[in-house]
Amino acid sequence: MKRKYFLNLLLGLNPEKNKPFNTKKAVLVEMLEKVINGEKLNTIDEYKLVQCMNVSALTGKLEEFYSISSCVTENDICKHRATNCNSICHDCYAMQSVSYRTNLELSLLVNHIVLNCFDISVGAWKTLAIPSINGKARLESHGDVASVQASDNMAKIQLSHDHLTFGVWTKNYGFWYQTFKKYGKPENMIFLVSSDKKNSVVELPEHIRPYVDHVFTVYDFETVKANNVNIQCGYHHCKDCMRCYTKGNTEFYINEILKKDTKKYKKYMGIE
Ligand code: SF4
Repeated sequence: MKRKYFLNLLLGLNPEKNKPFNTKKAVLVEMLEKVINGEKLNTIDEYKLVQCMNVSALTGKLEEFYSISSCVTENDICKHRATNCNSICHDCYAMQSVSYRTNLELSLLVNHIVLNCFDISVGAWKTLAIPSINGKARLESHGDVASVQASDNMAKIQLSHDHLTFGVWTKNYGFWYQTFKKYGKPENMIFLVSSDKKNSVVELPEHIRPYVDHVFTVYDFETVKANNVNIQCGYHHCKDCMRCYTKGNTEFYINEILKKDTKKYKKYMGIE
């Protein structure tokens, strides 16, 4: 669970440079020390941790959406994938945006530590205010689950907010599989597995397939043109589309045009 690593990371942060973050940091340090010393967290402790969580207002394609995300720069699996030049993660937008925006990175770091280091009850997660757009919200816009503890907590967030529908993206479906075996798949979850290579659909193992609502793949313009790939994503906002947040949408494969090829694609398709 890397609790000692995160404790040392927090203690090493400059309190002068990161003043707005100091209150949350104090809570995290206190709780990490408790669990490292073998103490059990009580209900008040869990509430305090939940109140540290940051729900982000998103921009760009996801404008008007809110998201709870962990931190890509603290995810060893994401970092490892990013070193593979054949992986879509080699050009990870989240990794780039988090690395140059300190406040964003600190907010996501707080989420990352809470999600990965503590087992928080459904009752405590109920106290987290999650704004939504028409009852829809996003999990993991700037990261991916890094442990079963994180997917367990994210499942409990969904169970505690059963009036909302959550779109959840992952490449780390192995963690989610363990969570589904424990708690079942939340009714209000739309589960998307992202292909880790451009122009190539991920092959899903049989055991995870029944849980997956959509497979999400990014294509470049040349491949779209050569193979007449059906593109549903990348040229409009999620709020005007909602494919990935709608229960009962049976399109299994959802394909996005590569961000840098969007203009070319729109021109080719005659989309204004
Ligand atoms: S397909 Fe639609 S809802 Fe899904 S990510 Fe793309 S724009 Fe958003």
